[in-house]
Amino acid sequence: MRDRTKRLARAAAAAVLALGCFGAANAETTLSVITTTPDLASIAREIGGDHITVESLAKGYQDPHFVDAKPSYLLKLRKADLFIEVGRDLEVGWAPGLLNNARNARIRPGGPGFVDASTGVSILEADGRVGREAGDVHPLGNPHYWLNPENGLTIAANVRDALERLAPTDAPYFRERYAAFESRLKAAMERWKKEAVALGLTGMKVVTYHRSWPYFAAAFGLDVVDYVEPRPGVPPAPRHVQQLIDLMKAQKVGLLIVEPYFDPKLPARIAQSAGVAMVVLPPSVGASPAATGYLDLFDAQFAIIRKALGGGKS
Ligand SMILES: [Zn+2]
Repeated sequence: MRDRTKRLARAAAAAVLALGCFGAANAETTLSVITTTPDLASIAREIGGDHITVESLAKGYQDPHFVDAKPSYLLKLRKADLFIEVGRDLEVGWAPGLLNNARNARIRPGGPGFVDASTGVSILEADGRVGREAGDVHPLGNPHYWLNPENGLTIAANVRDALERLAPTDAPYFRERYAAFESRLKAAMERWKKEAVALGLTGMKVVTYHRSWPYFAAAFGLDVVDYVEPRPGVPPAPRHVQQLIDLMKAQKVGLLIVEPYFDPKLPARIAQSAGVAMVVLPPSVGASPAATGYLDLFDAQFAIIRKALGGGKS
């Protein structure tokens, strides 16, 4: 008798477990999302929550223009439901080849699982004066648009729409998470704008190594007067370096901003010669220990700038 009761109890428990699994599978979908950069992965995580798994191919400390296309990426892409790229040819040197070889038609351009995150973003420097033939790596305008937090919202909306397309029954979940992200981002934006003014960053003349920062400059009112690279992706000749130092002195430049994947020796020498503070700013999530997520990225940048400008108010 006792054995029979136990058996019945076990059978009932198994049935409940099976129903539970079945119910969960019906209630939500787990989509596999692959992004080119960690900024896109962070935003996708904000919107997709636990209804997605997400992984970035590039690491935050890598120059996103130049990433080694590893064979292991093909396996990840083959199984992906959604692929999100920055677009504007940022990844033109490595992503199209991967998509062509991944044997997954869903995530190719035009497929239901392909997202160009730049859709709807106002692209700067898109006048087409400099072409790729001149060595320029920004032939379709400046692709570093995620560095204006307001563009982060456009990216998030693109991600939300794509997730809704793939998992329509989960749409309320994605919309709720988008709304929560939007309110956190808008509150943080107010805080960063105030800090930019308090630090004297708003209205400050700056020089940057690569043209990574025009969107950041537009968001917070910096005036980028020149670059260490004469053209995006083209290293400077000695004559340009000397002209830059002279210009930085004449224009009273307040800050030299450098991306972590460039050798800091030359920019450090330029900053010293011009008597200007230099900061190595993380341009992406994961490019510094504090830049753990999309909103933390801007907090990390402001913390570094605050320190370089002599403490400032926090
Ligand atoms: Zn670039």
